[in-house]
This record gives sequence, structure tokens and C-alpha cells, in this order.
Amino acid sequence: MKKVLIVGSGLGALTTALRLHRRGYRVEMVEKYHQAGGRLNQLKKDGFTWDLGPTFFSMTYEFQEFFEDAQLKEMPFTFRELDTLYAVSFRGFDKRYFIYKDLDKLAAEFEAVEPNFKEKMTRFLASAGSFFHDVEHLVLKKNYDSIWDYLLTLMRVPPKYTPRLFRSVWQEMERHFESREVKEIFSLVAFFLGATPFDTPSIYTLLSYTELVHDGYHNVFGGMYKIVEGLKKEIDKAGIPIHFNTEIVAYQEDGNKKVKGFVDQNGKTWEADLFVVNADAALFRHKIFRREKFTEEKMDKMKWTLAPLTIYIGLDTKLENVPLHNYFLGNNFEEYAGKIFKNSIKLDQPYYYVNVVSKSDPEAAPAGSESLFILCPVPDRRFKPNWDDKEQVAANIIDDLSQRIGIDLKKHIVSQTVLSPIEWEESFNLYKGSGLGLGHNLTQIGGFRPKNFDEVYKNVFYVGASTVPGTGLPMAVISSKLVVERITKAYGSVHK
Ligand SMILES: Cc1cc2nc3c(=O)[nH]c(=O)nc-3n(C[C@H](O)[C@H](O)[C@H](O)COP(=O)(O)OP(=O)(O)OC[C@H]3O[C@@H](n4cnc5c(N)ncnc54)[C@H](O)[C@@H]3O)c2cc1C
Repeated sequence: MKKVLIVGSGLGALTTALRLHRRGYRVEMVEKYHQAGGRLNQLKKDGFTWDLGPTFFSMTYEFQEFFEDAQLKEMPFTFRELDTLYAVSFRGFDKRYFIYKDLDKLAAEFEAVEPNFKEKMTRFLASAGSFFHDVEHLVLKKNYDSIWDYLLTLMRVPPKYTPRLFRSVWQEMERHFESREVKEIFSLVAFFLGATPFDTPSIYTLLSYTELVHDGYHNVFGGMYKIVEGLKKEIDKAGIPIHFNTEIVAYQEDGNKKVKGFVDQNGKTWEADLFVVNADAALFRHKIFRREKFTEEKMDKMKWTLAPLTIYIGLDTKLENVPLHNYFLGNNFEEYAGKIFKNSIKLDQPYYYVNVVSKSDPEAAPAGSESLFILCPVPDRRFKPNWDDKEQVAANIIDDLSQRIGIDLKKHIVSQTVLSPIEWEESFNLYKGSGLGLGHNLTQIGGFRPKNFDEVYKNVFYVGASTVPGTGLPMAVISSKLVVERITKAYGSVHK
């Protein structure tokens, strides 16, 4: 029986562990943090509970595929489809736009600003949808052995889509819509990828199709961390040990183009026949393997996604007037998006996302109280290394939010925690605090993304957001499918 050591316990790692266990591998895991889940984690404090990062996702059928593949008896958690996907408001305007999957309800929201919204949106979604279905299996869910392999695959994509590669999400919006409200709201999908609509290729408007037509958005009964708790239970049942507070800092080779073992911070060597690295695929090559293609200078030139500044608040009151998911935008979208990566924007009037956790999971807060999560995308530490001002940035956001929802939140705060890109970097080894890993520009996706197999060591593989196919929860699940395909091709599979 081959032994696999998995480095990390993010979603990519947990799903890989169970897929490999089912195929007859003996799996062991090491994790630097004190509990499982990676960025899909949880904070509990002062009687409140928050999901640390992810709050919703699409493409639930990828989880379904995983459960079947790993032969789990029943889904260890339950999805809930969001009826109102989210609400968006602009600074200085009272109107709040509610985003629905129902096209008639959605059209009613925009009738005052965008004439013929329904026809335009139908055309936009049809175009995004046909692209999604033409590339989902052909390009997205595929392993590439080389850049040539990738380019040959791209040649099979219908040529009608080629112009999409060279347009940005914003340019695609401009082809379909006129009002700034519609263009800004439906280009927020680029921010979900940790980038801006001005530097994200228009192929990613397919995300609008997945959110509005295909699968919608979902969260999980009892909070997103139920995903990790459910998977961890299966991991325990399978007898897979996870060693927490264990960080891999070095490696030993066996002299035959294979890694013999990874070494942790206490000098202990963890040996196995093969290794799956769930730590960031680029950072691991930089920090542990010290590869020429991943020097700090080269890493700094790569495109990284925006960093998170996150605020976890417990309130001693209910927020009747604020729905579950909300985006609070300013009124200088293009200028803000153009500067946010470079720390040349003042963070006193930021754009941010608010999730009232306890609306969907009442147990997250004591009776009569509310748990609030705020996420503000900020520059990573290449551009803003020092975050001594994190409490001030948080205070500005809380003041802004208070004005916009008409409640002085400061008077009701009974618990507050602020995590800057520094804490995110230190907790989960995220390069310079970048929240979603490597960006999704054309030179960093598909065959150009760090591969899920190692260039030097035959027995080392990678899974997670910075290898194929990309970032987000469903992508991490697909990533585990792809890496397991690779491993079983090389080492075989004994179905249990
Ligand atoms: C603030 C925020 C909000 C987000 N919101 C959403 C959302 O709403 N929807 C969505 O779909 N996605 C969201 N994402 C993205 C999503 O969280 C990630 O894409 C996904 O969780 C990444 O999973 P992963 O498998 O790459 O592992 P990760 O979560 O990156 O886990 C990797 C693990 O490896 C460990 N590790 C790293 N280095 C070492 C080492 N040397 N030794 C031992 N262990 C190590 C880390 O501690 C970590 O636990 C969000 C991300 C953030 C930061």
C-alpha cells in the first residue's frame, strides 16, 4: 500500500485525502494551522461564530461528484441555495439593488436605469453560457502535461470565442449594457477572482452565467465550516491522521529524482512514497524547493490576487434592515479599481462586502445579537507591507457602514477582531497576504499556471488554488480530482 503525505488541510487537501483513501492509498496529513480547512476556516470568540473567509459558492455539483467518487455514504453537510444572491448599494444613493436569479424580478430592479434590461441580460447570459458549456470539460477540468498540450487544447475551442481572450470583463459589459449601475454590479465577478474587471479577461463573465442561471449561489446550513467539519469526520472515520501545528520547512531527496521526506519546524522528517502539497503551489516552489523560476523577484512580478482585510464583529442588537450578503460600493469605480492594487487609493472610503452571518445561521450569535463579517479587498504586502493602521482602516469602514445603514454600530459592538494581510499570510502561508493565490490572467491559467506535478521530483504533486484550475471552493474540489487522476495514472489505484 503506497503511503501519501499531504502538506496542508485546505479543501483541496481534504478532498484529495478521501479520494486517495478510497483508491487504496495510506494517507497522512500535516498542517501548520491549529485546525483543518485552510482559508475555509472558522473563528469563535465571545459567544459569536464567524466563517473566516468563504461565505458562498457556486457549482455545487462538483461537491456531488466528489462524494460519489470518494464513496461517502451521505453528504456530510447540506447546501442552501440563496434566494436573493446579494444586495448592492452605491455611496451617496439610497437605492439598494437586489440581485435575483429570476430574470423578471431582476429586470424590475434595473428598469429605471437600464432600458430593455431583460433582453440585454438574456443576450449577455446566453453568450456567457455557451462559452461556459463549450470550455467547462474541454479546457477547465483537464490536466496539461505541457504548454503545447494546453495550446493544442485551446485550438479546439470554437474560434468565435477568440476575441473574448483579448477583451476585459469591463469591455464585455460595455458591449451589452449602458448604465454604470449594471456594468459595475455585474462586473463584481472579477473581484470574486481577487482582481478587477479592467484586468480580468472577459472569459470570466461565465461566472455571471454560473451565478444567475446555471447553479446560483449556495451556502451551508450551520455555516460554511460545516463543510470542513463534515469532511474531517470522514477523514477520522477513514483513520487518516492530521498533525496540526506542523509546518514543513525543508525537504530531503533520495538521490533518484524523488523526495524522501519533508522536514517540519522541529526537525522531524515525514517520509512517504509520494507527497501532495496543498500549500500554495508557487510559494512552495519558492520557499521550500528554492526554484530558479520562483525567486522572490520573479514571484513579485507575477500577478497576485488582492489581499483581504477582514473584520469579525459581534453586535448586541439585530440588523433588521441589512440582508445576508451585501456589497457597499463607492462612486469612483474605475479610479478605485485602477489604484487598489498599488496602494495609491486612500482606504478611508473603501469598497467592501458585508455578510450578516447570523441571518443564515442563527446559532452564530446569542439571542438578540448579530455576527457580522466584513471583507475589504486591499493591496497585498508588495504594495503595502505595513498594517499598523489596520484598526484605523477597520474603524473607517465601520463608520462608513454605520452611516449607510443608519445605525451607529460602534455603540453596539461587543466583540471585534481585525485580520490584516499580515495575519492571513502568517496563518496560511499566503504569498505577501494575497487572498486567493495567483491571479487568473491569460499567462497564469491552464498550461501556464504552476503545474500540479513537480518539475523535478517525480513523487511530488500539488493541489489547491494556485495550481490548476484556479481559485475558489469548487475549483479546489476540481483540483483534487485532477491531481488524483495524475497520481493514479502514475501509481495505480486499488478500488476499495
Ligand atoms: C477572505 C476570503 C474570502 C473568500 N471567499 C470565498 C467565497 O466566498 N467563495 C469561494 O468559493 N471562495 C472564497 N475564497 C477562496 C477559497 O477560500 C480558496 O480558494 C480555497 O479555500 C483554497 O483552498 P486550497 O485547497 O487552495 O487550500 P488553502 O485554504 O490554501 O489551505 C492550504 C493549507 O496548507 C497549509 N500550509 C501552507 N503551507 C504549509 C506548510 N509549509 N506546512 C504545512 N501546512 C502548510 C495552510 O496553513 C492551509 O491550511 C475566499 C478566500 C479568502 C481569503
